[in-house]
Amino acid sequence: ALHQAKKPDWIKVRLPTNPVFFSTKALISDLRLHTVCEEAQCPNRWECWSAGTATFMIAGERCTRACGFCAVTTAKPFALEVDEPERVAEAVKRMKLKHVVVTAVARDDLKDGGAEHFARTIEAIRAAQPDMAIEVLTPDFHAKEECLRMVADAKPHIFNHNVETVERLTPLVRSRAKYRVSLQVLRRMKDIAPEIVTKSGIMLGLGETEPEIFQTMDDLREAGVQVLTMGQYLRPTPQHLPVVEYVHPDTFKLYKEIAEKKGFEHVASGPLVRSSYHAADFNPLKR
Ligand code: SF4
Ligand code: SF4
Repeated sequence: ALHQAKKPDWIKVRLPTNPVFFSTKALISDLRLHTVCEEAQCPNRWECWSAGTATFMIAGERCTRACGFCAVTTAKPFALEVDEPERVAEAVKRMKLKHVVVTAVARDDLKDGGAEHFARTIEAIRAAQPDMAIEVLTPDFHAKEECLRMVADAKPHIFNHNVETVERLTPLVRSRAKYRVSLQVLRRMKDIAPEIVTKSGIMLGLGETEPEIFQTMDDLREAGVQVLTMGQYLRPTPQHLPVVEYVHPDTFKLYKEIAEKKGFEHVASGPLVRSSYHAADFNPLKR
């Protein structure tokens, strides 16, 4: 069995006490929406929400997959809520967001994997806030071209799909998803719509080696990926995969430099970096 590493001081969760934080929480629950910020108890939520970024989770809280790192419940999902795209758009407007990230569980029960629901949500947000940066973080859709095309046609500014980890650890870390399929997803999106910025991310601390990390960077670059995120894996519950290593902040910095040399246009790398952390630092509208 893998041994769980000891938590260092640089992994600190700052608890917000600001009234704006609580009104944002209330707004999200009034609109019956879910954010990854809350569901994943993300340590950055105060910082992100005040900086105008949030990550909405559409298509329900029940996932058809069961990844070893993820706290989302695995169960038969409910039917899609047709008015959800409008409610997300309403929240985005009321929260005065500058950069919204829309993500979803893997809906392997749906023929289109939820692609149309993504497209409708992008369109509703654009209609409500025409000048806002829209990023989607999608499941793999089994790399089906028609699903990717559906999402591309709605014209998000950023298409994000995480490979999550290096190739060797993928079967341990991700459920059903395959490393090569994820690369294919990213490659296909770039071919379908070259103007959409592509982005991916990996978690560190799952037992990957340095050469494997660099190989993953090369694979992503080869798939045309422009933005990369690297953050520390944190175990959501003792039932999830253990943290093999807490990567030092200086190492994260070094990896950022290496990734930039490999040609990524923007790299976010640090212990608390999540896929959507400081997403607005990279503004696709001002390139
Ligand atoms: Fe939300 Fe992502 Fe920011 Fe965490 S990093 S608070 S999930 S937007
Ligand atoms: Fe979590 Fe996504 Fe894996 Fe579902 S597919 S368990 S939401 S990481």
